[in-house]
Amino acid sequence: MSGRGRSGPYKKISTLFARPVYGPYEGTAVLETLNSGQLTKGPNVSQFEWDFAEFVGGGEAVAVSSCMAALHLAWLGLGIGAGDRVIVPALTHPATALAVEMAGATPVFADVGPDGNIRGEDIAPLIDEDTRAVCVVHYLGKPCDMAGVRAVTRPDKLKIVEDCALAPGAFYDGQHVGLLGDVGCFSFYPAKHIATGEGGMLLTKHLELAKDARRRRTFGYDDWLQDFVCLGTNYRMTEMQAALGIKQLKRLPMFLKRRAENYGMLRDILAHKGFEVIDSASGSHYALTVLVPDGFNRDKTIKRMRIAGIEPSIYYRPIVPLTAYYSTRNGYEAGNWPNAERIANQSMCLPVGPHLDTGDMRNIGHAFTEACRT
Ligand SMILES: *Cc1c(COP(=O)(O)O)cnc(C)c1O
Repeated sequence: MSGRGRSGPYKKISTLFARPVYGPYEGTAVLETLNSGQLTKGPNVSQFEWDFAEFVGGGEAVAVSSCMAALHLAWLGLGIGAGDRVIVPALTHPATALAVEMAGATPVFADVGPDGNIRGEDIAPLIDEDTRAVCVVHYLGKPCDMAGVRAVTRPDKLKIVEDCALAPGAFYDGQHVGLLGDVGCFSFYPAKHIATGEGGMLLTKHLELAKDARRRRTFGYDDWLQDFVCLGTNYRMTEMQAALGIKQLKRLPMFLKRRAENYGMLRDILAHKGFEVIDSASGSHYALTVLVPDGFNRDKTIKRMRIAGIEPSIYYRPIVPLTAYYSTRNGYEAGNWPNAERIANQSMCLPVGPHLDTGDMRNIGHAFTEACRT
């Protein structure tokens, strides 16, 4: 998918979709950690957890090896497993559904609204007596309508896990995402808002769930009882990753500001030209989603963008129920998730990350306009 350094008809991709932004502090912090000799289970992880909880303004943060690990631990901690059904949006990263299966439960795929976010009305018809939970995904960092979701899940009936992989810095109703349901899960994969190589964070306001996650990320070991007390994993974050995370988190407010500026500029350029943008005025501005006009071949448009040195991306293709794994196993066919499929088939995401500036936005806007000419 990535065209980094590719030759042939493509000139070198000069405007990457995503690239981590590091300075000298990150390098120094990692070297200091290496020199300290303590590479795991040390002070950096605790510090990163504290800093993260402070950044989001509450809850307990548990650093883990990826967002998918956090999602898996969330389901284990909530006691969801064999025989249980969990509703997830069709338009998401496969990890959202795979984590449900790793816990032994069954993902049930819901369509989303025209903005890419799952809605109460998408969830309600899928609820049956085995349904135990919903995983909402804040699509590209735009918060879901949680009031609408809660109206059908009802706090006493269904658990809510939030996949916040693309949503650090996104608020809903004055609260940071990840604190709106039972558990929130974040990603620090390099293409996300902040990068630790691999890495993730489980966030929860329930102290018991945080304790549970701390045990399960370390083989089920309980520090107080000094014994292995439950089914565990090794999902720990290393001290080197946490060293990066601490420094990256300090940059996050500036990253978010740059993203919002880039996003606003590119949206205005494209809207002015009459293109249909899936807007997310609030949120963490992961990327700008634009619909390729009817009658245009999206893949051809993307090819033209790449020839112009710009790397768009698609979130997400194929939609998860139509991946080879789920479609062959469950016999799923296209047509059941119309909104998700429209976004997956007709849209592309343009980069607005902090590695780019407003000059890049003008280039991207120009290249997209040119790529949509007959
Ligand atoms: C990237 C992503 C994930 C997976 O994150 P990892 O840290 O790579 O496990 C999960 N959900 C969504 C919505 C994502 O974008």
